[in-house]
Amino acid sequence: MPFPKINLHIHSNYSDGKQTINQIVDKAIKLELDYIAITDHFTNSWKAWFSTLNNNETISKYLEELSSYQRYLINNNNHLRLLKGLEVDLASTEKFIKDFIQLDKFDLILFEYLQSYETVAFLKNILNCWKKSINNFPILGLAHFDPSFFAYGNLDPLMNFLKEYNIYFEFNSNYPSFYSRKYELFFEKLKEYQIPVAIGCDSHRTSNLIDIEEPFEMIKYYNLEKNFEILLKSLKSLKIV
Ligand SMILES: [Zn+2]
Repeated sequence: MPFPKINLHIHSNYSDGKQTINQIVDKAIKLELDYIAITDHFTNSWKAWFSTLNNNETISKYLEELSSYQRYLINNNNHLRLLKGLEVDLASTEKFIKDFIQLDKFDLILFEYLQSYETVAFLKNILNCWKKSINNFPILGLAHFDPSFFAYGNLDPLMNFLKEYNIYFEFNSNYPSFYSRKYELFFEKLKEYQIPVAIGCDSHRTSNLIDIEEPFEMIKYYNLEKNFEILLKSLKSLKIV
């Protein structure tokens, strides 16, 4: 692969992943990945019965542990870079998101279930609030975004939104049907608007940490290499630790 090997969507046992952060980092080093993001779940929706980060104490512990591995990698001159991430369920309440997420503590925030223009408005409102309190946003992305909710309507408002807030589109190895040729127009729009694209495997076990080949094939298939490079640029300019 001519590009860095990245997997920006991984769950640890802080939410519903099977392995510890330590086990994930160890495996990623062995697999010679260049960038990984641990993005555990954050929600107070009906899915909150599931293991999720939902209180300050656990979130602080999670962040501390991630920071210590970031330092470990740098101090050992390892090429692997680890991002402190979070996967935010957009069915959570606005208050919950605003109360518990300290944006400047994260390198990456993924949003899942952006499925309507109402949710776009919901997210826009939160991002505008955050904008007032912080100068530099972490990297923002859409986790396993399903084009079918938007593909047959006017795509321009969605693309303008992604462009304005620099939100990337994720190619996720777990959802191949989202990248079907019937959404060709959608992918053309991503290209036209230069929306960054990333790769995430939604790994819940270290066994699929390196399932990045297929998403990368999709990026090439839709000629989105330039969009991928935009994302790589923000990864490179990220100040880790
Ligand atoms: Zn996930």
